[in-house]
Amino acid sequence: MLKDDTLANVLYVDLSKKQFWVEKRPNLFDKYIGGVGVGIQLLHEECPNGCDALGAQNPIILAVGPLNGLFPVASKTITLFKSPHSGNLGESHAGGRSAIAIRLAGYGAIVIRGASEIPLYLTIDNNQVHFRDASALWGMRSVITAGRVIRGKETAAGFRTIMRIGRAGEKLIPYAGVATETYRHFGRLGLGAVFGSKKLKALVISGKGSLPVSDPKSYQKIYDEIYQAAVNTSAMKKYHDLGTPENVLPLNKIGALPTRNLKDAQFEGASQISGETFAEHYLGRRLACAHCPVACIHLAALREPYGDEDFFYKTSMIAYDYEPLYAMGPMLGISDARGLLKLLEKVDEVALDAMSTGVILAWATEAQEQGLISEKETSGINLSWGDYTSYLKAIPLIVEQPNDFYQALARGVVHAASIYGGMDFALAFGKNEMPGYHTGPAAHIGAFIATRHHHCDNAGYSVDQKVLVKEKLTPRELAETLLKEERWRQILTSLAICFFARDIYKPDLVSRALQIAGFDIAPEDLHRLGEEIHSEKYRFKFREGFSLDDYHLPKRIFETPSAVGVLDEKYVRQTIEQVKQILAGRK
Ligand code: SF4
Repeated sequence: MLKDDTLANVLYVDLSKKQFWVEKRPNLFDKYIGGVGVGIQLLHEECPNGCDALGAQNPIILAVGPLNGLFPVASKTITLFKSPHSGNLGESHAGGRSAIAIRLAGYGAIVIRGASEIPLYLTIDNNQVHFRDASALWGMRSVITAGRVIRGKETAAGFRTIMRIGRAGEKLIPYAGVATETYRHFGRLGLGAVFGSKKLKALVISGKGSLPVSDPKSYQKIYDEIYQAAVNTSAMKKYHDLGTPENVLPLNKIGALPTRNLKDAQFEGASQISGETFAEHYLGRRLACAHCPVACIHLAALREPYGDEDFFYKTSMIAYDYEPLYAMGPMLGISDARGLLKLLEKVDEVALDAMSTGVILAWATEAQEQGLISEKETSGINLSWGDYTSYLKAIPLIVEQPNDFYQALARGVVHAASIYGGMDFALAFGKNEMPGYHTGPAAHIGAFIATRHHHCDNAGYSVDQKVLVKEKLTPRELAETLLKEERWRQILTSLAICFFARDIYKPDLVSRALQIAGFDIAPEDLHRLGEEIHSEKYRFKFREGFSLDDYHLPKRIFETPSAVGVLDEKYVRQTIEQVKQILAGRK
């Protein structure tokens, strides 16, 4: 039995009819815990087969778990939808204050149906839901300004999150994200475009409730165990100190840092854009998601002259994480740290996914280099490696799409390459642009077989570094290793734990923490549940047309030597075949 029965509350909002209601779904949460486990069931219920991802029938599901608000680093909200980018499962996670706000507002999940005819933003204030006219916010240049305006108008007390889209979401770009609390994002797979298709500019959720704890002594003990592990051991130290940009130099050293559209895997300018360099010269502030003592969010302070007056300056605070930094930095040959920060600021301003944008611009640069496109297509811009000013001009054109070429870029790298050529160097897996790891075969296989084509799904990059360097796994062994990791991560995302705490939230601790929240699930049962949730996600993918038979692997990954040497295409395809067989055996 759930100790806090508000977790079982699912809030339904219909944007077409401007109605809302709450349904109690205790069985759903009892069986699937919360987060992605509950969310994928709701997606199966709500999303009709083959529906238009940018149509009113595509739902938005937000789900949290029983540990959000109770334990440290349980700080994520999971969103599910049909992705306009991949055409199948859309799943995106973000922290900020979102998860705690949803829990304290008294919900375990929120389902948003339908579409509005006019721009609106939705406020959810405990049991009150309001549909507010957002016409004045629609078309606003920056998501930061839109957030400020909403903050000024909505003065609700309590824990509050403001999720909002930028111009990219309004223009239905299928890799547009949703910004939350300015520096966090539901970045990948196009949640922003789904918001835009519903004319939903923003979602404001305020929670004033509290969570019951029936066994304070045991709760305190487990809380302290997690807190101490998070702040006083090495488990999460790197995330606080340099943050994920710590990866730049080690990946570059082993030859795994994708550079200039993966024409190279080592970048001569790596030291100029490393975590160390940013920390020394630009770090202005660290932030944390709500209920996280780690504070991994690193903000650079970029001070620049402002206006024509002498001694006038403005300082912009810009978040820098490894993945956006790789995509807008080495991938575009950019070693100018200030220029790189300006690019990160530019994509954040319109809420585009930085990873997809960087990979798409890298493809466009190589396409122009090879003569597949010219300045006629680029509207006079000479896209060139290392020239951040050319990319600063191109990003707004991707958003506004003034011609066929930018319309193609706005639909993703696979789509653009299908029109202009260059599919061999269109770096995407399952249509999702690649993450920043050329560590070996597991990174790329992992991105392809992952349910959301995300490097965090099964951490193939880590398998490469831990295992393959020393001893090559058989295709079967690698397939099993990746799937095992991904199944376990379904439990972490059902709890809505931050993946950075994965070395703390091991099965035994998860089982004990869940007991505090009223769940009695043994560690071995967690593994079984993880497998079931993973199968349910694949069921959705297959239903919507994803195939492990007919797929595109960009030739480039086999041309540029990785950290473990040149990749063997036969081995990669054999491993994918093994994944297919394992999944087929589970049906
Ligand atoms: S480690 Fe970072 S991303 Fe994870 S919850 Fe803490 S602040 Fe948020």
